[in-house]
Amino acid sequence: MDAAWKHRRHMDELILGTTRLELRRGDITAQEVDAIVNAANARLAGGGGVDGAIHRAGGPSIMRECRAIGGCRTGGAVVTGAGRLRAKHVIHAVAPRYAGRPGDAALLRSAYAASLERAEALGVRSIAFPSLGTGAYGYPIDQAAAIALDACIEHTVHGTCIALIRFVLFSDPDLRVYAATLQRLAP
Ligand code: ADP
Repeated sequence: MDAAWKHRRHMDELILGTTRLELRRGDITAQEVDAIVNAANARLAGGGGVDGAIHRAGGPSIMRECRAIGGCRTGGAVVTGAGRLRAKHVIHAVAPRYAGRPGDAALLRSAYAASLERAEALGVRSIAFPSLGTGAYGYPIDQAAAIALDACIEHTVHGTCIALIRFVLFSDPDLRVYAATLQRLAP
């Protein structure tokens, strides 16, 4: 890969051609981006963690749309509006429930890839991800961070209209894991 195409600016930032990938600590519901990604379940039924926070902050219209859609396969992603949130769209991605199975990594990667494909189709210029799968679904965060960041890097290789990919980590330890992983993937 071309060194000029891909270079690090800080511990928490990587430039990938015309896309900036950044790591931030914060709350996904507060992001001023075109699309935020939800860590949804396959029934789109709502839950705790990121999902609960998004539905609480965004209001009931998001759940109404989720019910109309009905569900999403594990490793997939579907789109709703964003209700009262600052974002324009919510992309509901379904990570696998971690069980140490050989297929888990591919499903987690697929949840990121499907989200980015949905974002492209919507013409999204900025997108914020939480750490999919690493809460209630139990994916070990060091493994999940490598899959998440690599899936995003891979996506930008083929050209993208997305100028900003932001990971919003909920705690300092989570942010440190993502930063160390970014350092490893793009020294
Ligand atoms: P999953 O079921 O896919 O594991 P969770 O929502 O349980 O999803 O957790 C995913 C990650 O999101 C966890 O690291 C959790 O700490 C974090 N998280 C929880 N609430 C928020 C929020 N409001 N903004 C960003 N991240 C959050």
